[in-house]
Amino acid sequence: MAMLDLVSGALLADRSDPAVVLEPTADSAALSAASGDGRVVAIRFPAFGDGRGHSLAVLLRGRHGFKGEIRAVGYLIPDLAPFLLRSGFDTAEITDANDVETWKGALTRIRHLYQPGLRNPQPLRRDASRRAAEELNARLAGIESLSERIAEVRRSVEGRIVFSTSLGLDDQAILNAVAESGADIDISTLDTGRLFQEVLETVELSEIRYGLRIRLVTPEASEVEALVARDGVFGFRHSVDNRKGCCEVRKVRPLNRELAGAQGWITGIRREHSEARADVALAAWDEERGLLKVNPIADWSTRALTAYIAENNVPVNPLHARGFISIGCQPCTRAVQPGEHPRAGRWWWEHEEKKECGLHMNPRREGKAA
Ligand code: SF4
Repeated sequence: MAMLDLVSGALLADRSDPAVVLEPTADSAALSAASGDGRVVAIRFPAFGDGRGHSLAVLLRGRHGFKGEIRAVGYLIPDLAPFLLRSGFDTAEITDANDVETWKGALTRIRHLYQPGLRNPQPLRRDASRRAAEELNARLAGIESLSERIAEVRRSVEGRIVFSTSLGLDDQAILNAVAESGADIDISTLDTGRLFQEVLETVELSEIRYGLRIRLVTPEASEVEALVARDGVFGFRHSVDNRKGCCEVRKVRPLNRELAGAQGWITGIRREHSEARADVALAAWDEERGLLKVNPIADWSTRALTAYIAENNVPVNPLHARGFISIGCQPCTRAVQPGEHPRAGRWWWEHEEKKECGLHMNPRREGKAA
């Protein structure tokens, strides 16, 4: 059984310790060098609520295949124990020996309640998290301004919040509000390797307009190679299973890596999108991922969305002007005809009820509007 070992003492002060120390800002090259070093990798948590270390551990394990010890050092509290385990840490350095029993208590509670999933435990305060999500949902419903909704989300969530954008109209409205609010939110998009050039151009245009960076999250090269070797370059057209397999490798797994260690996730889901999304809440506790999922424009109509885009002169993907509404990967998206459902241009060769890519599939994750 996987366990989180507790280490007393100050690793960083002991110069004879052979650990490689990574700061939360470590880039891919630093991770690659650390993973090839064969020594203990210590990841520093410099402040309360700074969740970047979790992401680094996930990348070390998932992308760089690091099998050695990963140790958390710095500002750590006992309630982090389950999240450290889930991110791939083996050890947590505790500078105050008096805290050891509290840490053990946290792990014991987790083990008692959720033993089958210790490597992927649920949060300690699940009921409290659900209640907090419902309360935030109610507060957001009472706020009209989108940028104020974003600011309220930032105030309500401790730790890292990820806004995963597809650069579509819904997400561009949210991007405008995130920039306007000045909230500290990680903005990223899934670069599946099959995107339209216009999507990437919209990334650049938006970065220039708002003076921010939209991080491209890519699939594992080895997984894409194995997928294409098995199914072929356009294998996703041959069966629903193949298509879901492609979305799993190119979208779902990269998103899961991106969300590891995050406490909040902002999406552009709206109730009008489909029947499956008709009850989606403004904020709901995502049981499976152990984070707060926020859909700040869930209650917006298409008319309200297009009005906001026009009023704020928000940059939009030029494909919208050519009849594309919901825009995904290039081979799986076509323009829609007048009168067709907005999502008719996605995987148009499949039956309507199968048209989800897996990013928002679990109905429990969506939650009902409170
Ligand atoms: S939308 Fe198409 S190309 Fe993109 S990940 Fe899914 S199946 Fe693959």
